[in-house]
Amino acid sequence: MSKILTIGEILVEIIATDRGDGFRAPVPLIGPFPSGAPAIFIDQVGKLGQQCTIISRVGEDDFGYVNLNRLEADGVDISGIEVDPQGTTGSAFVRYREDGSRAFVFNIRHSACGQLSLNDKTRALLDECTHLHVMGTALYAPSVVETILAAIESIKAKGGTVSFDPNLRPEILGSPGMREALTTVLSKTDLFLPSGEELFLFANAKTEQEAVAELLAGGIKAIVLKRGEKGATYFDAQQTISQPGFEVEEVDPTGAGDSFGATFVTFWLAGKEPSAALTLANASGARAVTKAGPMEGASTQAELEDFIANTARKQA
Ligand code: ATP
Ligand code: MG
Repeated sequence: MSKILTIGEILVEIIATDRGDGFRAPVPLIGPFPSGAPAIFIDQVGKLGQQCTIISRVGEDDFGYVNLNRLEADGVDISGIEVDPQGTTGSAFVRYREDGSRAFVFNIRHSACGQLSLNDKTRALLDECTHLHVMGTALYAPSVVETILAAIESIKAKGGTVSFDPNLRPEILGSPGMREALTTVLSKTDLFLPSGEELFLFANAKTEQEAVAELLAGGIKAIVLKRGEKGATYFDAQQTISQPGFEVEEVDPTGAGDSFGATFVTFWLAGKEPSAALTLANASGARAVTKAGPMEGASTQAELEDFIANTARKQA
């Protein structure tokens, strides 16, 4: 069986329980929830019973153990997560505004996962992996970019594959070297998983169809475009498959894209037909938004199949 790898931030997420603009006054909070886009992704992969691992770092504190314990319980090989006795685990405070947008306070760059590098242990782990998933959010610090680029080279050199979710937050797009790093990753990508307008980030084209053609001509094998509650579309050189979202009540959208990506990548690598992988991924994203907390809505395959059999699709 192939082993899926991701690299990047592990955080706890602490959520304001009421809506409003940011954190300049005391607000009631709930958390810590295990989080970090790469962590959410790999947890969902583990829940599907697929061998997987993450290269990251946490501090030797409760926020670190919240993540280590959850990832291990859900089937992720946690041997690539270094526990730094001097470090502090990363965190994100999130508050939803009335309009549904989010205000964040992040501690990532100066947290334990702000410094990553390959060592003998993680190099050996990398040798076991045949697929790397890159999250755009993970390109937050130069040492992490370097580690990801080195891992891409290693995976590609042995005939492995790379998937890429640009997962852009306005907060990270302005980081020095960000655009260059994203462009380099894209040039090595087999499966591209943008959300909405992210499709146009690396294309000159103005229409969806032209952007897809441009990206496929550049060497990407398949694109899956996430459309939030509207579902998702799969594109490759031969076919385009659109599917609507499932009818659910959205409680917390954070993590939907990561769960969706994890499920699509897992079944795509396992050789499932794109349409079947797309249905499972749509179900995974939909289930994710029904639970408060980014990783709380992760699904087993049985849960996805049961959900698909019993849930209506949204009308276009
Ligand atoms: P994230 O905020 O996690 O980065 P994203 O922008 O990458 O999310 P979205 O398009 O918001 O990704 O969501 C990913 C998938 O999750 C969608 O393609 C859809 O399948 C599912 N999904 C998201 N929101 C809803 C919803 N309200 N109802 C049903 N399905 C949803
Ligand atoms: Mg996303």
